[in-house]
Amino acid sequence: MTRLFFALFVLLVAAAGGYWLFGMSGILWATNTALLALLVRDYFWGHKLEVWLRKGEPLAVIELSGFWGELVDRVRRGFKSRTLLAEQHQSRLKEFMSSIQASPNGVLLLDDEGRIEWCNQTAAVHLGLDDKRDAGQHIVNLVRDPVFTRYMAQGDFKNEVFMEGRSNSLSQLRKLQVQLHPYGDNKKLVLTSDVTARAQADQMRRDFVANVSHEIRTPLTVLAGFVETLQSLPLKRVEREKYLDLMAVQATRMQGLVSDLLTLSQLEGSPPPPVTEAFDLKALMSQVKSDAMALSALQGSDGQAVHALSFAWPEPLLICGSRAEIHSAVSNLVNNAVRYTPVGGTIDVLWKISPEGQALFSVTDNGMGIGAEHLPRLSERFYRVDRSRSRESGGTGLGLAITKHIVLRHGGSFQVQSEVGVGSCFSLLFPPSRVKFETQEAYLMPVLSEITA
Ligand code: ADP
Repeated sequence: MTRLFFALFVLLVAAAGGYWLFGMSGILWATNTALLALLVRDYFWGHKLEVWLRKGEPLAVIELSGFWGELVDRVRRGFKSRTLLAEQHQSRLKEFMSSIQASPNGVLLLDDEGRIEWCNQTAAVHLGLDDKRDAGQHIVNLVRDPVFTRYMAQGDFKNEVFMEGRSNSLSQLRKLQVQLHPYGDNKKLVLTSDVTARAQADQMRRDFVANVSHEIRTPLTVLAGFVETLQSLPLKRVEREKYLDLMAVQATRMQGLVSDLLTLSQLEGSPPPPVTEAFDLKALMSQVKSDAMALSALQGSDGQAVHALSFAWPEPLLICGSRAEIHSAVSNLVNNAVRYTPVGGTIDVLWKISPEGQALFSVTDNGMGIGAEHLPRLSERFYRVDRSRSRESGGTGLGLAITKHIVLRHGGSFQVQSEVGVGSCFSLLFPPSRVKFETQEAYLMPVLSEITA
C-alpha cells in the first residue's frame, strides 16, 4: 500500500509541477516522465535483486530501500532460517551416522535392487567390503558365501542366518550372524554381528559335556561289567575280592572326577579370594611334602619314596588368598611331577621371592617331558599328553585346568617349560600384593629353611 501511495504521490507532484510550468499539456508530459522514472528505478532495483539472488549469497550486504529492501529482508530471513534448519538436520544426521559407526554390529543399507547404498565400518570389516569403493555394487556379487546368496535369493527374511565372516587371522575364523530387514520401498537393512565368542562358548560347552560323559562312561561300563560278573558267576572268595578291588579303583576314579568337576564349578562361580586373609605356607608345604613322599612310595615296593624329592621355602612366607585353593594348586603340580617322573627321577619343589616381591612356586622334574606342540593346550580341561599314564595313575585331566584357574584368581600367572626326555618345570607366580612378610628383614633376605632329599 505504501508503495502505491508513494507512486500516486510522485505522479501528483509531477502533475502539479507540469501544470505550474507548462499548463494543461505539461500535466501529461510530467506524469509520463515520473512514471518512466519510477519504472526505470524499479527495473534497476529488480535487476540488482536478481543479481544478488543469482550469486547465491543472500547474506551478502545489498543496499535497497522501501519495497525492494523489504523483499531483500524477507528473502534473507527465510534463507537464514532454512540454513539453520539444514545445519541442525546435518548435525543430527552426522550424530546419527557416527552412532551407527560406533555400533559393534554391522549396518548395511541396500536399495530396491540389492545394491549397497551405505554401510558402516563394522559391516565392511565383517563382510570384507570397502565402504567407499563398493557403494553402488550389488551385494551378492561381493558377498560370495553360498549361505548368504541363498538367503538373498529366497527372500524370506524372518530368521537370521549364520555364515563365515572375513577374518584378519587365518587361524581364527569369524562366525557371523546376518539378518535382513525390509523397509521403505523394497529397500533392505542388513544387520551383521560377530558371534565367534558365542559359537566358541557353545562348542566348548558341547565338548565339555561330551568329555564328562566319556570320562564317566568308561569307569561306569567297567563297574557294570564287574557287577554283572559278580551276580552271574559263582566266584571264589579270592576272585570276588579281586573284582571288588578293581571296582573300588573305578569308583575312586569317578569320585575324583566328580570332585574335580565340583572344584572347577566352585572356582568359576565364586569371587576371587580376598587379599586381606594371609596364611603361613609352612603347614601346607609340610602336608604336600608328606603326601608326595607317600605317592612316590606307592610306585615302589619297600614303602620308601622312589624319587629324589627336594622341598625348599622361605620362612615365614605368608600368602594372601585361599589356603584350600593354593593347597590344591601346589599339590596338583607336585603330584603330577611324581606321577609323570619315572622311578629314580629328581623332583625339586621350591618357593622363592623375586626382588620385586613376587612369590614364585616351581616344580622341576627330570621326567618324560612334554612336546612343544602340547604346551599351549596343557591347561585345557581333559587335555592329556599321555592318556594311558594319566588314567593309570588316577588322573582326571582337570588338574592343570584347576591349577591355572586358581593362580589366575589370585592375580598371578601359570607357566610351563618342558622338553621331551629332559623334564618339565611348572611354575606359579603370585603378585607382591599376595605376599606378606612379618618383618622387613624377612622380606629383604628370605631364608631357604628346609631342603629335604
Ligand atoms: P591329569 O589328571 O591327566 O594328570 P592334568 O591336567 O594334571 O591332568 O595334566 C594334564 C596332562 O599334562 C597330563 O595328562 C600329562 O600328560 C601332562 N603332564 C602334567 N604334568 C606333567 C609332568 N610333570 N611331566 C609330564 N607330563 C605332565
